[in-house]
This record gives sequence, C-alpha cells and structure tokens, in this order.
Amino acid sequence: MPNEADCLFCGIVAGRIPAEVVHQDDRVLAFRDIDPKAPVHVLVIPKRHVTSLADAKPGDDAVLGALLLTAAEIARAEGVAEAGYRTVVNTRDDGGQTVGHLHVHLLAGRAMRWPPG
Ligand code: AMP
Ligand code: ZN
Repeated sequence: MPNEADCLFCGIVAGRIPAEVVHQDDRVLAFRDIDPKAPVHVLVIPKRHVTSLADAKPGDDAVLGALLLTAAEIARAEGVAEAGYRTVVNTRDDGGQTVGHLHVHLLAGRAMRWPPG
C-alpha cells in the first residue's frame, strides 16, 4: 500500500488529481468513483491520510463517524436514502482494497445482492 507521499486519494485532496467532488468539509471529502459499480457510486474519505480501517487509531473515532454520517447525508442529497443503499469499506488484500487511503463506498440506485463476492 502506498504511503501519503504517493497516495492517489491524498492527490485528490490536494487538488493535484481531478475528481468530481460532491461534498467536503474540514475533515472529509466525497467524490464520484471513476469506475462506478452502481448508478450512484461515491467515495467518502478522510482528508488526513489513513491507510485503511485496520490502520485507524482510537483517536480517529470522530473522523470515522464523520465518514458514515457524510455518506448518509450524500444519500439524502442524491435522492436514494428512502430506497436504500449500501456502504462498504474494503480493508487490505482479502477485503479487496486497491487504494491505500481509507474510503467508504456509497453504492445506490439499484438493488444490491448478498452475500458480496
Ligand atoms: P477499493 O477497491 O475499495 O480500494 O476502491 C477503490 C475505488 O477507487 C475503486 O472503486 C476505483 O474505481 C476508485 N478509483 C480509483 N482511482 C480513482 C480516481 N482517480 N477517482 C475516483 N475514483 C477512483
Ligand atoms: Zn492518502
């Protein structure tokens, strides 16, 4: 997993890499996934680099809460809250994580299946 210096999502936070931002505040940034897996597919990330959920520390509790509350807020703004949606955090290799900066996937606009692959 890359560290902060060559992290793709830190590049988006810094504005070096373009993204379609849908929400930001002092702690979190949300932008559309470049390869959407559902009609609505937004990634919500902490602005400060955290490599994965497994790397989060007890002091990260506020930002972890902010990620989920922001995902719920975006779902309302996108008009999918009533129908429902899925939030996913892939962690490390077996979790399917491909970008080493913690992110919550917000997926909506179609019925999701269970169990995931
Ligand atoms: P994960 O596999 O859980 O690590 O998710 C990484 C997600 O980042 C994938 O859904 C990718 O499509 C998405 N992604 C990769 N590069 C970009 C980018 N430059 N802008 C937006 N989303 C991206
Ligand atoms: Zn990063």
